[in-house]
Amino acid sequence: MSSATSVAEEIVDYDEALERYDPVMGLEVHVELNTATKMFCGCATGFGADPNSQVCPVCLGLPGALPVVNEKAVESAIRIGLALNCEIAEWCRFARKNYFYPDMPKNFQTSQYDEPIAFEGHLDVELGDGTTYRVEIERAHMEEDTGKSLHIGGATGRIHGADHSLVDYNRAGIPLIEIVTKPLTGAGKRAPEVAKAYVGALRELLRALGVSDVKMEQGSLRCDANVSLRPRATGDQSQDDVPLGTRTETKNVNSLRSVERAVRYEITRHAAILDRGDKITQETRHWHEDTGVTTSGREKSDAEDYRYFPEPDLVPVAPTRETVEMLRGTLPEAPGERRRRLQNDWGYSDLEMRDVMNAGAVALIEETVAAGATPAGARKWWTGELARRANVEGRSVEEFGVTPAHIAELDRLVRDGRLNDSMARQVLEGVIAGEGAPTEVADARGLELVQDDGALEAAVDKVIEANAEVAQKVRDGKVQAAGALIGQVMKEMKGQADAGKARELILAKLS
Ligand code: ADP
Ligand code: MG
Ligand code: ZN
Repeated sequence: MSSATSVAEEIVDYDEALERYDPVMGLEVHVELNTATKMFCGCATGFGADPNSQVCPVCLGLPGALPVVNEKAVESAIRIGLALNCEIAEWCRFARKNYFYPDMPKNFQTSQYDEPIAFEGHLDVELGDGTTYRVEIERAHMEEDTGKSLHIGGATGRIHGADHSLVDYNRAGIPLIEIVTKPLTGAGKRAPEVAKAYVGALRELLRALGVSDVKMEQGSLRCDANVSLRPRATGDQSQDDVPLGTRTETKNVNSLRSVERAVRYEITRHAAILDRGDKITQETRHWHEDTGVTTSGREKSDAEDYRYFPEPDLVPVAPTRETVEMLRGTLPEAPGERRRRLQNDWGYSDLEMRDVMNAGAVALIEETVAAGATPAGARKWWTGELARRANVEGRSVEEFGVTPAHIAELDRLVRDGRLNDSMARQVLEGVIAGEGAPTEVADARGLELVQDDGALEAAVDKVIEANAEVAQKVRDGKVQAAGALIGQVMKEMKGQADAGKARELILAKLS
C-alpha cells in the first residue's frame, strides 16, 4: 500500500480503548555515536558534508576491503551499557545481517545478533507527576548506519511518485548503538507518556555520557515504537497471564512529542481493528507528523530470515573486566542524582523542576546558566515562552534555533535594564525568525528602554495631569489604580519605558 495515497483509518476514543485493552510497548532506539571516525574504517563522520565525500573501500563494501573495529565506539557502547545497568559481555561477536537495500552498499549490515555487547539492564524514568516507571532493557548492541536515499521528483520526498533517486553513502558505516527494551507492560493509560519520558531520559543520559549529539531532528537519535494491545484481564485473571497481542512497529519517529503521539495513535487504531474482530497485521508503519497518523509500511514477520552469521572479517570483542571497571569509573552521576543536585543549585521548587523536566529543558537550562543566565531567567524563557510556543506549534523547543547562549544574552539585556519584558519577547521573536543574536535583533529593531529619567518623569507628570481623577484615587490609597497610569505612561513612551521605574515614580509623586 502506498503511504501517500492511504486514507485515514478508523480509530476509537483513547479512554474507551483503554477500558477494553491493555497496551504493551517495545522501544528500539538507535543512537549515532559521535566518534571522529566510522565504525569499521577511518572515514570522517561529520554531518552535512558533500554527498559521498566521506567514503572509502571499506564503507562502500568494495571487494577485498577489510574492516577494523573502532575502539572508541566499543568504549562508548560499554559506557552506555553500564549507564543502563546492563551486564557487559565478556566475549561477543559481530554478525552479518543479510538483506538488500540500495543505501546499504555491502548488502549486509554488520550488526550484533545473539551476542550483544550489553544486555539485561534497566532505566528508571520519572514521569510528570513525580512517580517512577522502570523500563527493562533487553540489550544494547553495536552496529553501523546505512547510507541515505534521496527521492527526487515526488511531492512527499518518499519513493512513491519520485522519478529518480540519489544515494549518499556518507552515513554508511557510522557507529550506531541500538537499545532495545523488553515488552513494557503495566503502564496502562500512561503508555504514551512512558514512551516519551523514556526516550527523553535516555537522551539526557546519552548527552551526559557525551557519546552522541542526540539530535532527534538530525537523526542522530531515532526511535522505533512497537505497540500492541491485549484484552484487559477479567475476573480473577492476572493481566500478566494474558498473552501479548500482535505488534506494529512505527519507524523513525523523530521528536519526543511524536513518540508520545504515535504510541497514542496506534493504541486507538489497534483498538478499532480489534473491536471489529479483525486481526492486527504485523508490519512497520510510517509516522506522519503533519496529520498525526501512521500509515502502513511493509509486512514484517518475527521469522524474517536475515541469514545472520558471525562476521568472519572481524575479531571478537572481549573487554577485560579491568577495562569495564575503568569505564564504569568514567560514568557521569546518575540522572536522578543529577536532577536533585541541579534543583538544589538552581533553587527551583519541585513543581518548577517538574515543569523543566516535562519541557525536556534540564540540559538546556544547565547550559544557559553556564552561559551566564540566572536560573530563574533561564527557566522563565525555556519553560515559559519557548515551551508555550513549541506546544502551540507542535514542535520541540530545540527546533527554534534558539541556543542557551542566546537566552543568556537575552536574560542579561533584561537584567541590565536595556529591555523590558515585552521588548525581550519581541527580541526572542527576532532570534527565532533568524535575525541574529539578541543584541543584534534589539539593535536592528531599535528596541531599547529609554534610560533618560527626565523623559520618563515628564511623561509621568503629563499622565498624572491628564488623569486627575485616577491620580486622586491613588493619593487616597488605592494603589491598584496606579496600573492605569502606568499603562498611559508606557503608551506615552511608545513602550520603551521600564514599567517598574514608571510605577515607582508614579507612587512617589502621589504619596
Ligand atoms: P525487530 O527485529 O522487529 O526490530 P526487535 O527484537 O529488535 O525486533 O525489537 C522488537 C521490540 O518490540 C522489542 O522492544 C520488544 O520488546 C518489543 N515487543 C516484542 N513483542 C511485542 C509485543 N507483542 N507488543 C509490544 N512490543 C513487543
Ligand atoms: Mg530491531
Ligand atoms: Zn570508510
